[in-house]
Amino acid sequence: MRVTLLGTGDTAGTPRPGCDCDTCLAARERGVERTRSSVHVVNESTGEALLIDTSPDFRQQFLTRDVALPDAAVITHIHFDHLDGLGNVYRLLDHLPVSAADETDPQTDESVAETIARKYDYLDTVSVQSRTPHESFRVCGFDVTLVPVDHPPLLTYGLVVEEPETGAKLALSGDTSYQVPAASRDALRDADLLLADGIVPASLCDYHPLGGRDEDSSGVPRTFGTKHMTKEGAMALADDLNADELRVVHVAHRYPPEEAFEEPLAVDGETFSL
Ligand SMILES: [Zn+2]
Ligand SMILES: [Zn+2]
Ligand SMILES: [Zn+2]
Repeated sequence: MRVTLLGTGDTAGTPRPGCDCDTCLAARERGVERTRSSVHVVNESTGEALLIDTSPDFRQQFLTRDVALPDAAVITHIHFDHLDGLGNVYRLLDHLPVSAADETDPQTDESVAETIARKYDYLDTVSVQSRTPHESFRVCGFDVTLVPVDHPPLLTYGLVVEEPETGAKLALSGDTSYQVPAASRDALRDADLLLADGIVPASLCDYHPLGGRDEDSSGVPRTFGTKHMTKEGAMALADDLNADELRVVHVAHRYPPEEAFEEPLAVDGETFSL
């Protein structure tokens, strides 16, 4: 399994348009970027490519990185930064099966799959496949499982991607607070690589109107507000899940510049062979 991190930023990305903070300036100087969420996974046994989330930066990501156009996609949730690049497949691909969860979200009265089908009804290229969380399905030769996480108010999922030939395992937390349910933690456990939401360092919780929560034994918040983990939360999750390697993704420009480009924070274009 070959994994390429196409988009490792939060919804505004880094550098953020119109921002001259030290971190955005440092990103420009270093020539690094954190575009909106997307992960490209190649099954080296079958040669097929699976795209996890369709970033609004889809076009630029595929122009910049040496990766094949996808054979299939999986969508974790309906937020703009994870879904709204799907229209880019028009005239680029003949056909793209898109897997998403089938549970009805009380917030929208639709499942993620139904929202995608409704929004992209005009695109013949896209065929939506409804998937039941915790039930693995085969796509691009991978065994893929959507697992519920906690990203209020929308139903949102993390993901497990396993390659049956090699036993390689990739786990993604998806956008989530630290309150990942126990059954989902069990599914995400023992991955070769965990990609976990760590939007800001815990020190920034003081600046969130709702503060932080899910504090560890030293009082460090593992959740920023209600929707995302802190970097410390992502690291604690990796420990709890016994991940071999952690990359923190969904990273905002608000990390101080001396911390923003250090381990374990990911930047766009990183690749992994699992
Ligand atoms: Zn900035
Ligand atoms: Zn989100
Ligand atoms: Zn997001």
